[in-house]
Amino acid sequence: MATVSMSVHEQLALRHRAVLPDWLAVYYRQPIEITHGEGRYVWDAQGRRYLDFFGGILTTMTAHALPEVTAAVTEQAGRVLHTSTLYLNRPMIDLAERIARLSGIEDARVFFTTSGTEANDTALLLATTYRGSNQVLAMRNSYHGRSFTTVGITGNTSWSPTSLSPLQTLYVHGGVRTRGPFAHLTDPAYIDACVEDLEDVLDQAQGRVAALIAEPVQGVGGFTSGPDGLFAAFKRVLDRRGILWITDEVQTGWGRTGEHFWGWQAHGASGPPDILTFAKGIGNGLSMGGVVARADVMNCLTANSISTFGGSPITSAGALANLTYLLEHDLQGNARRVGGLLLGRLQAITAGLSCVREVRGRGLMIGVELNTPEQATDVLEATRGGGLLVGKGGHGGAVLRIAPPLTLTVAEAEEGAEILEAALKQVESGRQ
Ligand code: PLP
Repeated sequence: MATVSMSVHEQLALRHRAVLPDWLAVYYRQPIEITHGEGRYVWDAQGRRYLDFFGGILTTMTAHALPEVTAAVTEQAGRVLHTSTLYLNRPMIDLAERIARLSGIEDARVFFTTSGTEANDTALLLATTYRGSNQVLAMRNSYHGRSFTTVGITGNTSWSPTSLSPLQTLYVHGGVRTRGPFAHLTDPAYIDACVEDLEDVLDQAQGRVAALIAEPVQGVGGFTSGPDGLFAAFKRVLDRRGILWITDEVQTGWGRTGEHFWGWQAHGASGPPDILTFAKGIGNGLSMGGVVARADVMNCLTANSISTFGGSPITSAGALANLTYLLEHDLQGNARRVGGLLLGRLQAITAGLSCVREVRGRGLMIGVELNTPEQATDVLEATRGGGLLVGKGGHGGAVLRIAPPLTLTVAEAEEGAEILEAALKQVESGRQ
């Protein structure tokens, strides 16, 4: 009976709850149904417009409904949606060449998947096979996906629902500069302490360790990182011991962090990582992920293998158009400029607010950490009311995650900052 007076939208929320898993995260007390998008904006089923400061979920890298991507996808769809990697696939080869060059990895090979999880799974398969060991290093508070393998190594326990894992994982410090036993140290001393921790963990490990997998900036963990230089210091230890370095660039790749094209480059390492994984933004919403690795690492697998949908012509064509747009319009530079302005603006807005613990970030990857997850939820609801979408994560969900499409303009950054300011002030004054 109760459903009779319900709107179609309310019924949709009930149907969602009835048929999808209880653990499937959904934002907002009254979930939003997004029906379309353009540029940095999306519209819901009731016709309300929102400025998208979460870029889908860091997936809309350039812009919603970017005409270049739409044209490439439409053109490819008119010819063939999918064949398989059993046949030569021109868009996939074009894209792989582009990505191999951009990766900085010498003699690189690229394998396409359909998600970040699958990319990391493949990276772990490669590293463990190459090194003949199922023992890996991961960072505390990390997130690497939701398959059995990647969940098993994920350090952020709120995202890791099982303690059973096919891999043995050793966790090291360094992903969260402002928390943990080393938080009080200066940057150089912090790095030294993390290196000492790494050496200690390795000395106590039984048998070989295959690889370290790490996000340069922890995404789901709340846009936190160690100081620049940390991974260069780690790399020296890993190289000495023959351990591979996997950089998970699922959130940090393609110039999002502004100063660098890849997150790992902020660390001044002597050379590139052995394996790099990517996903999210490359497809601008099309489901694409992948792994780049040195040829000897990639080719250590001997069994014939494919991913049915990985590198499909339609996703490759869209991703290629997206990447071309990104490079031709210097969106990394835009992320640096507009992100820098936005970070400064948010730091100024929050300076006197006791509910805000820290505002941090680089490029268009900015975290606003509240004192409690409840406050972050309240801000999320209030920004929604003001017409702004942001993400959440880290420390039980206390961090607002801001990661708009990289075409964000200064005026849009200002618009979002104003909505966020009003929402934060509302929560600060207890007017929720
Ligand atoms: N790695 C990182 C750093 C991520 O943030 C995510 C997703 O949020 C993943 C891997 C998993 O990617 P996907 O959700 O595409 O499987």
